Amino acid sequence: MPKTVIVIGGGPAGSTCAALLARAGLKVTLLERERFPRYHIGESLLLALVPIIDAAGAGDAVRSAGFQIKNGAVFQWGSDEWIIDWPKMVRAGAHSWQVERSVFDEVMLDNAAAQGVEVHQEAKVTDVVFDGGRPRSVEWVEDGRTRTLAADFVVDASGRAGVLANKFGLRQQHEIFRNVATWSYWRGARLLGQAPAGAVHSISTADGWIWAIPLAGDKLSVGFVTHKQSFGRIRAEFPSVAEFYRDRVFASKSVAWMLEGAEQVEDVRVEQDYSYVATRFCGPGHFIVGDAACFLDPLLSTGVHLGMYSALIAAASIASIANDAMAEDVAQDFFEYSYRRAYSRLIVLVSHLYQRYENKDSYFWQAQQLRVDGGAEPASPLHSFMDITAGTTDIREAGGAFERVSTDALIKQAQHAREIANKSIDTTVPNVALGIPDLDMSALRDLWDGHDKASDYDGAHRLVVETTPRLRLRDARA
Ligand SMILES: Cc1cc2nc3c(=O)[nH]c(=O)nc-3n(C[C@H](O)[C@H](O)[C@H](O)COP(=O)(O)OP(=O)(O)OC[C@H]3O[C@@H](n4cnc5c(N)ncnc54)[C@H](O)[C@@H]3O)c2cc1C
Repeated sequence: MPKTVIVIGGGPAGSTCAALLARAGLKVTLLERERFPRYHIGESLLLALVPIIDAAGAGDAVRSAGFQIKNGAVFQWGSDEWIIDWPKMVRAGAHSWQVERSVFDEVMLDNAAAQGVEVHQEAKVTDVVFDGGRPRSVEWVEDGRTRTLAADFVVDASGRAGVLANKFGLRQQHEIFRNVATWSYWRGARLLGQAPAGAVHSISTADGWIWAIPLAGDKLSVGFVTHKQSFGRIRAEFPSVAEFYRDRVFASKSVAWMLEGAEQVEDVRVEQDYSYVATRFCGPGHFIVGDAACFLDPLLSTGVHLGMYSALIAAASIASIANDAMAEDVAQDFFEYSYRRAYSRLIVLVSHLYQRYENKDSYFWQAQQLRVDGGAEPASPLHSFMDITAGTTDIREAGGAFERVSTDALIKQAQHAREIANKSIDTTVPNVALGIPDLDMSALRDLWDGHDKASDYDGAHRLVVETTPRLRLRDARA
């Protein structure tokens, strides 16, 4: 009898994890609260998602869905500008996509069903029943009836709803990222001429920053992000959020130029307080992936990447445990370490961007210190920044089918990265980018320091993910 898995949530993290597990021969049931297609924010995808989408069996469906091709990013940050051009910096043709999430998430969910997952929509999970620290069954409501199903493993991919994080009180909100995002959609806009095709634009302003993401069909997603304190102060000057939003995006000369003559085609949306992390990401028989475990910030567009990356390493861990090829605690150490490390590295880089307008070289230099290249040839600081922000550092670190990693180099560089992170998170430097002079960055130092003790995860360092010939964790020493 194949082992059974219940996945809670059918966003990118849930549908990817479910598809990978079904392909690995497990019996998977996915429960999704909504009926797809449904709206979701999070449209700009990183390069590192491409091999994960392929491993989940969704490559053809995503490639034929007509999404906008994304070749990189352009930053206008402080007084600097820099361009990340994947075809020039990685390899010819390197790209991901800018996606309408209603379409992308449905493609990924349909793919999970095509891989053999039993998908229930409009099925809201109400509880996970535990017995001796292990989940025994999941309860949900569907068609007005309460149903229960037992499973060997539960994967919580419920996004911000955070079914398990809430059940166990695991979630910690970040004081430093108490941001508010307002956004809308435009037609007839133009992109900055120097930007690579389909690039995400990140443009800082006096009190926050603006994203511009080109979507298929001449649509441009434009969002303004600021700290809650600035939002409270500036919003009060306007009769509505819609007017606040328009004023803030047109306050940027670059964005005003991009939107000249364009038409706003949707109402303004708002989200706030979305930055948090769970104190643990897994336990006996259960894994928490994607936004259900942690989310940092829209800057650098990392949410879907972290969701699908954590789905990949959770699925590889479960497949290995289910096949009796690996002890559960060893596989879980690997998962906890790898996911937390990817998250921590990105949050350190994102906070550095928020923390100060130094100059672009300082961001690139920091990226180089944070990067773990496992003995690969030394990259330039700009390439290191590109590598981390494309998510490819994480994939390389997970190793296996993607690239072999020297474990001793990993441990050494993890320790080095921690020292650098501690040094660079300077509590006295004003948080210029959000217009808030007195944010306490020490919480961030604790976050990194508390969870990146390489020696605690000694075993985890010796494992790598392999996707072919079958999904599993492999001991790199063997
Ligand atoms: C303002 C803003 C901008 C962003 N921009 C980007 C970006 O450009 N690029 C990027 O990569 N990321 C971005 N993100 C992040 C991105 O939205 C998320 O990180 C991503 O959607 C996480 O995927 P997920 O599968 O973990 O969760 P979700 O996509 O949220 O999916 C969770 C699913 O679980 C379901 N669910 C919830 N509760 C239950 C329940 N009880 N029972 C059953 N199902 C349930 C939900 O209906 C949902 O479908 C942004 C976020 C914000 C706030």
